[in-house]
Amino acid sequence: MKCCLAIDIGGTKIASALVTDQIITQRQQIKTPQAEAATRMATVLAEIMQQYDGKFDAVAVASTGIINNGVLTALNPKNLGGLAEFPLLDTIAKYTACPVGLLNDVQAAAYAEYRVSGEKSVNFAFITVSTGVGGGIILNRQLQIGPNGVAGHIGHTLADPNGPMCGCGRRGCVEAIASGRAIEAAAAQWANPCEPKEVFARFRQGVPEAVALIQRSAHALTGLIADLVIGNDIQRVVLGGSVGLAEGYLPLVRQYLQQLPHFYQADVVPAICGQDAGLLGAALWMQDSLTTYKEEK
Ligand SMILES: [Zn+2]
Repeated sequence: MKCCLAIDIGGTKIASALVTDQIITQRQQIKTPQAEAATRMATVLAEIMQQYDGKFDAVAVASTGIINNGVLTALNPKNLGGLAEFPLLDTIAKYTACPVGLLNDVQAAAYAEYRVSGEKSVNFAFITVSTGVGGGIILNRQLQIGPNGVAGHIGHTLADPNGPMCGCGRRGCVEAIASGRAIEAAAAQWANPCEPKEVFARFRQGVPEAVALIQRSAHALTGLIADLVIGNDIQRVVLGGSVGLAEGYLPLVRQYLQQLPHFYQADVVPAICGQDAGLLGAALWMQDSLTTYKEEK
């Protein structure tokens, strides 16, 4: 494969670009349609396919939500608004005869982090802690997607059976405790309420309630990492997202992890791919999948 058209569909923006050998060119970005979302999404995708017509030999999509057999869904489909059950694969396939691959955006980001760093580990996990907690898992050097596209939704593993309700409908998920949204909800209840960014500023100043809140998040996240390591023999974990990369957060996670028996430990390092991780990861995954397919034939 020479060149891949990569499309990253997020809740607020859609980015597209050509990707060749990890180099991103002709990148553009538009807002994700909100009103009449399904109709307008079909139009937007048609326009993107036409704009890059003749310049690519594969299409790779990284999308918010879950891609279940080419159809867009989510743990809580209400979060997708009018895009729930949108036929992503069929819509794109209308405009190209090239192979089309689809991933969840965090699965794609995981693959980008794995490949761009020249990662040598066999078993690897990426965790992003931002508004929510997402993940991607690579086992035996293969990105895990699963028959329903759900693999990697590790933010919805259990952290505290008595914890707050999670958006997925289960009580006490890691996301309900560790995420930016959870931090925001807790800080809104303070006598002197504040936004998550300010929570981190107070945490670094040593304000006790902010320290306790961030420690609670880091503790839940450490539990998740330890479970992944012991369950899958994960060697390396990359941590990303606005909370995951906030100053002081990663050292706390490392500190908690080091307090556990050595079987639970793995290297935990910061993400490096930034905002184009979805574009890059989807394209690299598509490239590697097509190469493997050819070799198997
Ligand atoms: Zn959940």
